[in-house]
Amino acid sequence: MTGTAASIAQQDQEIPDIVAGLRATFDTGATRPAAWRRRQLRGLRSFLTNHTRAIEEALYDDLRKGRTESHLTEIGGVLAEIDHALRHLERWMKPRRATVPMNMKPATARIHPEPLGVCLIIAPWNYPLTLTLNPLVGALSAGNAAVVKPSELAPATSALIAGLLPRYVEAVAVVEGAVEETTLLLEQRFDHIFYTGNGTVGRIVAAAAARNLTPTTLELGGKSPVFIDETADMAVTARRLAWGKFTNAGQTCVAPDYVLVTPAARDSLLSALPGTIREMFGPNPRTSSDYGRIVNDRHFQRLTRLLAEGKPLAGGPSDAAERYIAPTVLTDVPHGAAVMTEEIFGPILPVLTVRDVHEAIDFINARDKPLSLYAFTRDRAARRALLEKTSSGGIVYNAPMIHLGVPNLPFGGVGESGMGAYHGKTSFDAFSHRKPVLSKPTRPDTLRLIYAPHTSRSFAFIAKAVARTHPILGKER
Ligand code: NAD
Repeated sequence: MTGTAASIAQQDQEIPDIVAGLRATFDTGATRPAAWRRRQLRGLRSFLTNHTRAIEEALYDDLRKGRTESHLTEIGGVLAEIDHALRHLERWMKPRRATVPMNMKPATARIHPEPLGVCLIIAPWNYPLTLTLNPLVGALSAGNAAVVKPSELAPATSALIAGLLPRYVEAVAVVEGAVEETTLLLEQRFDHIFYTGNGTVGRIVAAAAARNLTPTTLELGGKSPVFIDETADMAVTARRLAWGKFTNAGQTCVAPDYVLVTPAARDSLLSALPGTIREMFGPNPRTSSDYGRIVNDRHFQRLTRLLAEGKPLAGGPSDAAERYIAPTVLTDVPHGAAVMTEEIFGPILPVLTVRDVHEAIDFINARDKPLSLYAFTRDRAARRALLEKTSSGGIVYNAPMIHLGVPNLPFGGVGESGMGAYHGKTSFDAFSHRKPVLSKPTRPDTLRLIYAPHTSRSFAFIAKAVARTHPILGKER
């Protein structure tokens, strides 16, 4: 939805009021108690369970997501995050003791997590439910108020969230809209901005946040590579690869973007993939209820241009009327082709050959740091080399994407793939300030040795303390 001049003018008035209202609520302290946080999490849960059918329909309308896929990657994922937070909330909220060094004793120290205030969550279209609500689980667990801005490119899910979510949670406002509305939102002062989407807009968000020194989490994307060698179990590798690549028609931030395969593994991989795709989506994936569509015409046009950059081993056909692109595997792709320089974000899988893991590492390191790196290999030295000699948001051996389902693993990028992380306790931390609290009794006054006037006794004491903590400085005296 792009706002008309009149509706933007209205939003202009409304958005500052919405943020001011949330700030007033936050300032009452109402959002801090564990009971309030639990009530919001249960409210989120009820939103999902009371409107499951409507959510499934919205996801189908936006992306033709199948029912099972919607439960696996959207509804189920959010429910799992909510339940994990409900299970651990009290423990996360507890202040943690910190040890005090000898020269500071007597004193007690603890770290007290406190909510940040009013947070802004800006979501993308590809997992329009999960990527709107999962950060909200973190914001509410941590006791914040929040403005949620779903993606205008998934209009059915955006409308559903705007229409129904506010009935289930307090201190949450949903603002629908596109660039104009988001720009207005970014003009407000928030205490944290959590953005998921592409790096170009990520830079706009970071620049706007800098004006108010607002901390940001940027969950971005990029090209997530897959390394495969001859020690891999090829039947399972092909299945997992096809599942990871063609779920949501490849429109997944952590989808395998391209494959680097060793010469000894290439033929068996290439002979397994077409049959695996047929097993999953039938001889005509267009008729499969498990295969999605490209989100809009712009992305469809972009992807059909990429289709022409290699030789299709499987797939190839597309249909503009339905925004359908068949699950496609490309070989003979030049390294400089757009399909190898841009994030693909669609059902196209280029397969390139590399001599060995070392060439794969050089290839990966010559590009932006990926959000995820996948390696199908039983060779421990190869796994270790990939782990230690490359940098990526995360690394998974023998499967794509499933690390998102482990709440104890922080999920986020590094470098071009983003900054900050969330999921589970990491979400709670992302939306909290870890406040250090130090309490020092006044008697005995052990600080008296650091007050002026400094005497030879205080010098001896301080020199000794410095020598203990900084041996080199101590020697210089
Ligand atoms: P999108 O077009 O829906 O944009 C994301 C959000 O930014 C939307 O809410 C949109 O309204 C807003 N926006 C767009 N232009 C803006 C502007 N000029 N100013 C302010 N706000 C603006 O989604 P997208 O960016 O196409 O999403 C796809 C990208 O996101 C891919 O690169 C993908 O890898 C990445 N992604 C990352 C993750 C992750 O968890 N790291 C998850 C999903 C997608």
